[in-house]
Amino acid sequence: MLNSILQLLFPNLCVNCNQALVKHERHLCLTCQLELPETQYHLLKDNGIEKSLWGKIPFERAFSFLYFNQAGITQKILHELKYKGNEELAIFLGKLYGQRLQESPAVNNLNGIIAIPLHPIKLRKRGYNQSQAFATGLSEVLGILDYSNLIYRKKNTQTQTQKSRVERWDNVQSIFGIKQPEILKNKHILIVDDVITTGATIESCAREIIEKSNCKLSIASIAHAA
Ligand SMILES: [Zn+2]
Repeated sequence: MLNSILQLLFPNLCVNCNQALVKHERHLCLTCQLELPETQYHLLKDNGIEKSLWGKIPFERAFSFLYFNQAGITQKILHELKYKGNEELAIFLGKLYGQRLQESPAVNNLNGIIAIPLHPIKLRKRGYNQSQAFATGLSEVLGILDYSNLIYRKKNTQTQTQKSRVERWDNVQSIFGIKQPEILKNKHILIVDDVITTGATIESCAREIIEKSNCKLSIASIAHAA
């Protein structure tokens, strides 16, 4: 009763179009959910992300939920995650993507998931790690263990946008550490980031994991900015 009154007074709004959500809708109205620019990369071998990672790190498959388009729905979602602390939305997106991934043989033999960690200072500022929340949703639907607590970030990196590609690589090299790497030995782990652009952060984290624990990796992100 109280919930229905509150819902009347303060309806939950769609993150994209600001329309009031109706029963069973969460975060996005059905219309906007159907308009999500899904990449379908999990069904597409040699997709855009896989091509950009070729020759850099060994991996099984790489895929991303959404295309990043300037001024589009993905940008609104990322803004909501980053600046409005909407952790529930990140978990919701992880679950939604988990349902999509279940259609794909790419996830059949996954044993676990690892979210790229934020530096503690950034984590305190933002309140939560959006990659972690997305990974939580994924792990729940896919029924795989979350090993994110084994990975940590060694030092805070500056914002990467102003740097050249070479500088960027130097900047992210070996910034990650791994605890108890033997736990991951011979497993197939899905590494999760929020947005993949050059893939340099994923590459750095993946290198550390592969070198120390000799496991197989696949890669997933919320968005791909090609
Ligand atoms: Zn909407």
